[in-house]
Amino acid sequence: SKRVLSGIQPSGKLTLGNYIGAMLNFVALQHEYDCFFMVPDLHAVTVPQEPAALREQSESVAALYVAAGLDPKEAAIFMQSHVPAHAELGWLLTTMSYMGELERMTQFKDKSEGKEAVGAGLFVYPALMAADILLYKANFVPVGDDQKQHLELTRDLAGRFNHRHGDTFVIPEPFIPKVGARIMSLEDGTKKMSKSSPSSGSYISLLDPPDDIRKKISRAKTDMGREIIFDVQNKPEVSNLMSIYAQCSDKTVEQVQAAYEGLGYGAFKKDLGEVIVQALEPLQRKYADIRSSGEIRHILRDGAERANAVAESTLAAVKEAMGFLPRG
Ligand code: ATP
Ligand code: MG
Repeated sequence: SKRVLSGIQPSGKLTLGNYIGAMLNFVALQHEYDCFFMVPDLHAVTVPQEPAALREQSESVAALYVAAGLDPKEAAIFMQSHVPAHAELGWLLTTMSYMGELERMTQFKDKSEGKEAVGAGLFVYPALMAADILLYKANFVPVGDDQKQHLELTRDLAGRFNHRHGDTFVIPEPFIPKVGARIMSLEDGTKKMSKSSPSSGSYISLLDPPDDIRKKISRAKTDMGREIIFDVQNKPEVSNLMSIYAQCSDKTVEQVQAAYEGLGYGAFKKDLGEVIVQALEPLQRKYADIRSSGEIRHILRDGAERANAVAESTLAAVKEAMGFLPRG
């Protein structure tokens, strides 16, 4: 059956953006496809990570996958660093990437902006991401809108490799939600919500206590008007909150708009806080259970085994096609 691969970096606390943009689709796709969901720790270290925090966040992300509804019997859940083929194919694809195309990546521009020293890993990141996807011959990659450009590069690299060395890789397609593909910062409607943001008021963490969630929503930036209207051009902040509302309550944006006709921001935000709290309550409960059970280590061991089997076979084919001498 068709394959799916994706992952969320253990570079901070997972946000509502990660949940709506990526995780909801992970869960939706798991029964229909052969799914691989990694915790991309090798990507996380493209910006400095404190070792103890990286270890904790890695286990936390894996537990959140399960808490959000991923079934480890269906989907392989694993640490990227437990499958050495990622780093190896990442290098091979780095050699096939052009400086110019990497320089055009907006994530690189955003993450290096204003920094004096920019790590080289941040620059070659898209080649490693291409390796992640191509190792599993994934047909679909559930991601948020911000990853579209990297996926386009993955497709280019796969095509380039196939053209030079013969048909080896499947050309993957992005799988992006129709609503909430780019959840914006609660403090700035022009920036996407990011877990690595230094300002915790800009995002809602999936593990935020209910009162923090209510507080952050009540303080969220809104424009001067008072109508609850979905209009991304003129009312980006309110529209963003409406997308969050819709995705956390299984409603369409139109239904949300109709429900708040004639009501002001205050009433809307109060309800939105409750909607988010309600949506995250079962996830938070399950998360606490999983962390205390200690079962994550077993899930990750099993996932790595399944992932390694697929990844090693693709890597072997790649190395043969490129002309590497077999070990014998
Ligand atoms: P970082 O700031 O460390 O890059 P991040 O919040 O951007 O963290 P990633 O691990 O880079 O998270 O991305 C994981 C997944 O979540 C990707 O599929 C990405 O497209 C999606 N995603 C990230 N932020 C958002 C957002 N604001 N809205 C929708 N999807 C998002
Ligand atoms: Mg990101």
